[in-house]
Amino acid sequence: MKGFDFEEERIEGEIAKLGAKRVLLQLPEGLKPEGLHLAKIVEKTGALPIISADPCYGACDVAINEAESLGADLIVHFGHSKLLKHERVPTIYVEARATIQVGKAVEQALPLLSKYVKIGLATSVQHVEVLNQGREILTSAGKTVIIGDSGQMSYPGQVSGCNYSNVKAIADEVEAFLFIGGGLFHALGVALSTSKPTVIADPYDNRAFSIDDEAQKIVKQRWACIEEARTARTFGVIIGLKHGQKRIDEALKIKDLAQKHGDAAYLLAAKEITPETILEFPFVDAYVNTACPRISLDASGKFSKPVLTINEFLVVIGESSWENTLKKGLFES
Ligand code: SF4
Repeated sequence: MKGFDFEEERIEGEIAKLGAKRVLLQLPEGLKPEGLHLAKIVEKTGALPIISADPCYGACDVAINEAESLGADLIVHFGHSKLLKHERVPTIYVEARATIQVGKAVEQALPLLSKYVKIGLATSVQHVEVLNQGREILTSAGKTVIIGDSGQMSYPGQVSGCNYSNVKAIADEVEAFLFIGGGLFHALGVALSTSKPTVIADPYDNRAFSIDDEAQKIVKQRWACIEEARTARTFGVIIGLKHGQKRIDEALKIKDLAQKHGDAAYLLAAKEITPETILEFPFVDAYVNTACPRISLDASGKFSKPVLTINEFLVVIGESSWENTLKKGLFES
């Protein structure tokens, strides 16, 4: 697949250094077509490649249990930067940096940012190297550019699906954000976490557009879910079984809070949170999702019952206000 750096030499070097004999390759959905090519790279070293066919949406989901059950002595996890600290199976992260030029897309964004002077710049891990290129274009156009560094992410300006600390850290200092990268997912997260006007510069389509209407639509959907959940008397509290999504303590707190408010709450554990897996419990009126918060936000239309984030549940039971939740972020604790 053109346009991404798969660091093939580093993979070969790490396999040799560790003397790995069986290597589990884990790719997010968009990069899975590259699995065959990467398996051949592993084969050349003399190790046995196994490609994980399970879905993988984030660095929270390193296939540690799967590697152990397959007897793999190395995991190569593609497309995300390191998030989890674990020592059970050696793991290397290949961030799959995009090699695409972003200049044209950033130039397309300038008219959409004409009202603003102070711009916050953000991107996903694939484009962290080109943030400076974006900064230069904006600065030449007379903008003041700020790139946030909360110390929580691998790189300044980087956001992930559920960590927007780098943009939240500078939200009070900027008038709008420019997100460099493809797709709506991360840019929506920027808009929802900061409540600031957000523009995407998409280098894959060489175009720029505002994400604000889409973000507003999600905010309205979330409010509707909260309203619907106010009549719920039995909650299903979902515990994610993926390593970086398992928050048992949070789930227990939710269960206690629900009971304190006179409601019943039951713990449900799931690896994949889909309508098929969680809607099989007719006694549950609404769910509280302590696993991947983006499921509540981005897939809300797929569920026939409310699937609340933790912060939204606090609004439902009156422990927090909607205004505070919007300020804090719909999905970040
Ligand atoms: S919890 Fe969800 S949004 Fe966060 S890294 Fe995992 S898959 Fe991405």
